[in-house]
Amino acid sequence: MDSEEFRQRGREMVDYIIEYMETLGERRVTPSIEPGYLRELIPKNAPNKGEKWKEIMSDVETKIMPGVAHWQHPRFHAYFPSGNSFPSILGDMLSDGIGAIGFSWAASPACTELETIVLDWLGQMIGLPQEFLSFSDGNSKGGGVMQSSASECVLVSLLAARAQKIKELKVVHPFTEDGVLLSKLVAYCSREAHSCVEKAAMIAFTKLRILEADEDLSLRGATLAKAIEEDRALGLVPFFVSATLGTTSCVSFDNLAEIGPVAKEAGAWLHVDAAYAGNAFICPEFKYLMEGIEYATSFNTNPNKWLLTNFDCSTMWVKDRFKLTQAMVVDPLYLQHSHSDKAIDYRHWGIPLSRRFRALKLWFVIRNYGVEGLQNYIRQHCRLAKRFELLVKADERFEVCNNVRMGLVCFRVKGEDQLNRKLLSKINASGKLHMVPACIHGRFVIRFCVCAQDAKDSDIEYAWKVISDFATELLDDESVDEKSQIKLTNEEANDEEFVQHVGNLEISELIDLMEKVQFPMQKNHSKPGSWFKQLGTRVRRMVKNSNPH
Ligand code: PLP
Repeated sequence: MDSEEFRQRGREMVDYIIEYMETLGERRVTPSIEPGYLRELIPKNAPNKGEKWKEIMSDVETKIMPGVAHWQHPRFHAYFPSGNSFPSILGDMLSDGIGAIGFSWAASPACTELETIVLDWLGQMIGLPQEFLSFSDGNSKGGGVMQSSASECVLVSLLAARAQKIKELKVVHPFTEDGVLLSKLVAYCSREAHSCVEKAAMIAFTKLRILEADEDLSLRGATLAKAIEEDRALGLVPFFVSATLGTTSCVSFDNLAEIGPVAKEAGAWLHVDAAYAGNAFICPEFKYLMEGIEYATSFNTNPNKWLLTNFDCSTMWVKDRFKLTQAMVVDPLYLQHSHSDKAIDYRHWGIPLSRRFRALKLWFVIRNYGVEGLQNYIRQHCRLAKRFELLVKADERFEVCNNVRMGLVCFRVKGEDQLNRKLLSKINASGKLHMVPACIHGRFVIRFCVCAQDAKDSDIEYAWKVISDFATELLDDESVDEKSQIKLTNEEANDEEFVQHVGNLEISELIDLMEKVQFPMQKNHSKPGSWFKQLGTRVRRMVKNSNPH
């Protein structure tokens, strides 16, 4: 492709993206395909000769789009938002065009310097204490960095905390092996923390104690203090606490003001994971939720979730960058440069050496929207979530299960988990809305998150209508089902004809049947009916077919 063709195709691509976004609402929100669908549509081998652009793009529409889950769809209410906006896309495009790899200041000075400046901007917008900022005063030890994900921020913090604690222990026990010291380290988080904390501890070979949150799903200082006291009595050394502001399941907030002093007294690194909710702290009315932030050693939030910036853009700040980098520095000759004493080399702040020019897109977004524009966007999502909450509360068949402060509402139909599972699976299968579940206080709940960039009141009304219509249908069916439940005797369940019938059913019909049939194994029957074995064989065969390895 030469420059002239790139100019033309680039324009066409912009048109394609705009058309995609403007007509997105007409597509199913999630695809209706089975695993492996693409294998049948794409040749087994790469083409030997280059193909025409038109052919490639025509395959995008016919082969790729049918398998895309549309995260920017107005009916997408799963997980958290996936940040997206035109200025951000343009920023990424420019970064791709520049194509620099900014592992050190010298490798691309603007890439490094813009990252430091934009992280200072965002840190100030959020209201982080001055110590987290690079330019707060001439001697600041703090600063920000972009990582590719919140999981990486947590891992990097945990690795830094581990290095710091081992260094401290070495002073007291200079002749003890690092491995022995490592075996004494223990980290803490709440049961509500994201699974990336568990993963980080697993990678780092450190113990992790998962603590119970209170009834508001907030980790409290006293719980942490008790666990630390018990562990110290066993000769363990607390080294890392991960607190969450805005948990994944229900956007609850750990009590930093209580946890902070406990972590400090224990000499543990306090990381604050605010992957989603941290973005909302740019609004003054939410800053109260970060009370106690002055105790944090490091903090992360993802503009690629809730600040209109495309993945990947996870921002992280530390109060003491030297404590962070001491866990990561290796310095071969070929990466050294003459300005290293005066400049930041971001390769020491994370795991990969190579890094993209990600600061451009965040810089474009902040400048194009302004702080005010970004605040309006966050506030609109929070207002719409409150609107949805009111609709749920007004329907006595439902209950709201979280304290709705940001863009997420957790709700359920009053009744069994199974009923809620069915409701969610029917809604998702319809392709009309997409939501995911969570477990709150041991119960299955449905998460409704306001995700779309320009979400509107009419989207909330539409979503609620879909949910309540499905609930009506399901609750009606349930009452009919209860009356018509099939009660099989052991003889009937082993009847040849019935077993044959089961063998010929579609899997969805089998599932329906399973829900209706009362399992015939009762006190005096020791074996399940053969229809049940038949079902087992078919399920095993299906699993094997869909997973040939
Ligand atoms: N932490 C929290 C609180 C989250 O909600 C999530 C994801 O939703 C993560 C961490 C993991 O984020 P990432 O996908 O950026 O690693």
